[in-house]
Amino acid sequence: MDSEGSITWEYLKNVADTLNSYRVRALIDAKDEIINAGRYSEDQYYSILFKMFDEELLKYSLFEFLKTQPIANIEILKEFSQKNSLDIKKVYSLLELLRSENLIKIEEVYDEIEAQGEETPSKLVFRDFKIEVYREDISLVKSIYEPVEIIFDSNICSGCGTCAGVCPVNCLNIYNGFGQIDKDKCIRCGICYYVCPRSYLPVKLMNMYQDNASKIKEYTNIGNFIEVYSARTKVKEISEVCQDGGIASTCLYYLFDNQKIDFALGAKMSNTIWRPEPLLLQNKKDIIQTAGTKYVNNPTLRILNEFNGSNHSVAVVGVPCIMQSLLKSEIYNIGIPSLNNVKYKIGIFCMESFSYQSLLKICEVLKIAINDIKKMDINKGKFFVYTNNGEESSVPIKEISHLAREDCEVCFDLTSESADISVGSIGSPSGWNTVIIRTETGKKLYESLIAKDLIESKPIEEVKPGLPMLQKIAGIKKNGCKKHINEKKEKNLRVPIY
Ligand code: SF4
Ligand code: SF4
Ligand code: SF4
Repeated sequence: MDSEGSITWEYLKNVADTLNSYRVRALIDAKDEIINAGRYSEDQYYSILFKMFDEELLKYSLFEFLKTQPIANIEILKEFSQKNSLDIKKVYSLLELLRSENLIKIEEVYDEIEAQGEETPSKLVFRDFKIEVYREDISLVKSIYEPVEIIFDSNICSGCGTCAGVCPVNCLNIYNGFGQIDKDKCIRCGICYYVCPRSYLPVKLMNMYQDNASKIKEYTNIGNFIEVYSARTKVKEISEVCQDGGIASTCLYYLFDNQKIDFALGAKMSNTIWRPEPLLLQNKKDIIQTAGTKYVNNPTLRILNEFNGSNHSVAVVGVPCIMQSLLKSEIYNIGIPSLNNVKYKIGIFCMESFSYQSLLKICEVLKIAINDIKKMDINKGKFFVYTNNGEESSVPIKEISHLAREDCEVCFDLTSESADISVGSIGSPSGWNTVIIRTETGKKLYESLIAKDLIESKPIEEVKPGLPMLQKIAGIKKNGCKKHINEKKEKNLRVPIY
């Protein structure tokens, strides 16, 4: 279904009611508010509405199909996939939605493969799903599509900005890492919840999409990857200002120079020094404004609506929670024009971030005025600060970790596992970047940087400390995340559904 012309408005309302699709009904009822808000044109409104309608229809048809099965398992999902000519990954994505909405319960069944000596430890291999279908009337099940206010209130909002960038009535704002909602304007469509990486995030499925795999499998601590390199830029303007190897900036340099993108999204310093703000880059001259690592949270995707026009090609540079939100929105595509314009996802490694106020407290600990800071860095377990007159101070991360944002405690991803290409310093020598190629898009981009002689590149195996160090630190972050999630669960606090 792709145009209003084929059906009547009344028919659409009736079907939305029959499906008990609160989200579709909210969009239908708020048509005037959405158009008047000016964020989406009437055509874009219809395309979002019908795309969401299609998704809801598919989801409920899977639910109804599962209800008719005496046993629901992976074979049944394959049968549904064949009958409806749907990719099995799409079926899994619908299954995750049903699970998130408490319409089904899923148990994953694994086989244990015994260890083959010290080199090959024992491992679990996915075998099947046991799916329990709750057969109550759908109308008895509470809709999960609430506004993201519940994410703000439970202190698990990562501050990525996606919700504010897509809200059809422009009633959300993310500032200083925290969200605000104008409840009088909110139409309760739940689109914000749908795109949010902290509502539900099907991590295994996301790895499958990255890998283009059709089977569920386990991945290493850095997620799916094709190749890993150590690299640094050869572009003089970038090497003069970059923090480490300058590879993320060089990707943008190449993409602008070769007309592969119209815009890029990144972070620049605001008028308040060391408080970043989102930047819409329009050409390669803007890249210099984004140089250097910023440790204060930046809601990059808050300005997504600035390129809602059709057929733009956009690159986004951002931390893992930003990449997660983009990949989730690719999998659950509801036709948001700006999200569909994103063609390159360039991820940055991130261990944790701080609020601006916490950064001021770190400066107090180090007895340094924030205006005197030239560069900050996290390395070898310490937070380093370099001043404009060449002094260096540091504090062990352990001593300041209580100042990190609470939401970062429930973040499992160090290396931007959802990106096309991920860039960071861990694993490579000083002045170089570790570069993880994850998708064919990322591979093609990296090969182009080499072909155009824009970077120096070595296999990661040729440098120290290399991949083992990166895997180790990524594992530490994952374990920390599990611990914090369990602690929150014990206190009956809300946690993201991973
Ligand atoms: S805040 Fe969320 S639920 Fe409310 S209108 Fe915006 S996107 Fe929809
Ligand atoms: S995590 Fe991102 S999308 Fe979710 S509520 Fe926070 S800013 Fe919005
Ligand atoms: S630690 Fe995770 S949640 Fe926090 S800023 Fe980094 S990527 Fe986002």
